[in-house]
Amino acid sequence: MDERSRQLAEGLQSVRTRIDEACRVAGRDPRSVTLIVVTKTWPSSDIDILAGLGVGDVGENRVDELRRKTSDIPQTPLRWHFIGQIQTKKAGHVAAVADAVHSVDRLRLAESLQRAAQRHDRVLDVFIQVSLDQLGVDQTLDTARASPESPAVPHERGGADPSDLMPLADAVAASPNLRLVGVMCLPPQEMDADVAFARLQQVSLELQQSHPEARSISAGMSHDLESALSHGATHVRIGTAILGTRSTVR
Ligand SMILES: *Cc1c(COP(=O)(O)O)cnc(C)c1O
Repeated sequence: MDERSRQLAEGLQSVRTRIDEACRVAGRDPRSVTLIVVTKTWPSSDIDILAGLGVGDVGENRVDELRRKTSDIPQTPLRWHFIGQIQTKKAGHVAAVADAVHSVDRLRLAESLQRAAQRHDRVLDVFIQVSLDQLGVDQTLDTARASPESPAVPHERGGADPSDLMPLADAVAASPNLRLVGVMCLPPQEMDADVAFARLQQVSLELQQSHPEARSISAGMSHDLESALSHGATHVRIGTAILGTRSTVR
């Protein structure tokens, strides 16, 4: 094994151990958790190595990088997860190659993804990205809906306001080439991860009342996967703890 393969194997092993331990603590079956290895900024050769080490799911957050890497590595059984913000005009590129999109946060984007997925005769798994900025501790989706103070500007990290979640979920569920699978969040900078993931789990349970199939929760990164798994995360998105620290230049 060369040096990089050894590093990736070690990183993978340590993350799998953390997931197993967090699941043991939470009384969950580790097989209920999908590890998505976030390969953004790293070369396609790393993805080849990871696939050889048994990784089945990889995540990218830039459209151009996703396109380049999926064309570098066309023949693997890998599942490609798109986890970054998407300009509506680039939705077609994502729908052409991604298997799952975690960042659907507005109706126009869902509509563009549906049209493009249909054109390519594909079905995409969709997680609705929720912004937790506006959701108070004791608020439910219903009370959030009742308070009309939606911000005029989109959230910097993306994500739908909880008040917009239900209509968006209904639209995705009604789209023949999109499969509503659940919710995703990036905890707001200033919010404790435990608080954020507990709220996301609450949002997920409320969503499942009208969409029982939407059981997945995409939450947890290198530094907070234990917290996410204690709050029901089914998909963790891990980069740094496996591949190392990304250079900021890209
Ligand atoms: C980069 C990224 C991750 C992975 O973060 P790490 O801290 O490197 O594990 C997860 N989710 C999203 C949306 C990302 O952009």
